[in-house]
Amino acid sequence: MSEKSSNVVWHKALVTREDRQRRNHHKSVVLWFTGLSASGKSTLAHAVEKRLHDDGCNTFVLDGDNVRHGLCSDLGFSLEDRAENLRRIGEVAKLMIEAGTIVLTAFISPLRQDRERVRSLFPHGDFLEIYCDASIEVCESRDPKGLYRRARAGEIPDFTGISSPYEAPINPELRCNTGEDPVEENVEQVLEMLRKRGIISG
Ligand code: ADP
Repeated sequence: MSEKSSNVVWHKALVTREDRQRRNHHKSVVLWFTGLSASGKSTLAHAVEKRLHDDGCNTFVLDGDNVRHGLCSDLGFSLEDRAENLRRIGEVAKLMIEAGTIVLTAFISPLRQDRERVRSLFPHGDFLEIYCDASIEVCESRDPKGLYRRARAGEIPDFTGISSPYEAPINPELRCNTGEDPVEENVEQVLEMLRKRGIISG
């Protein structure tokens, strides 16, 4: 434990995660979407959230751009800053899991080591990695924000897939072919995984 936190004692809650899960009629979990920029992480995360929300689940999406405006506004895109960005998001997601929420995160999270570090914050089964698998060619042809074009022109340093690495997950809990399959198909895959794991009911 670091010196800064050595005198801080965790206060035991009277309402537990289990209590909240019972009331919600579903379990809480983190769905960690990873993939290249424009691979479809946000689209899929928000589409899954919509379905879960409409079914009465407690959900929240932590999205790349949103957290960078506030929680992580002091961080850039160096590998060191990206690691700290993900660590903070992991800690926030952990709190939200305690609050009984199904948390969906949409961050490129390019390095295996950083994703594994976030995974290690959670008990087994609470962190489900979903690989949004779309080739760089597909992502670059989509380029909804013109970021690839700007990165190719040398205007954006450390751009994942162009001038910064992306390490695909080796053993994710789920792989979605977001480069080729329709979004609805990917949504069904995610919901099926949640049913199989007993996170949501059939
Ligand atoms: P990311 O969050 O990974 O940067 P986005 O969710 O913003 O990517 O998606 C980038 C673009 O790709 C969007 O224009 C979106 O409509 C499209 N897209 C996302 N998922 C799919 C999919 N499964 N099939 C086809 N197009 C998709």
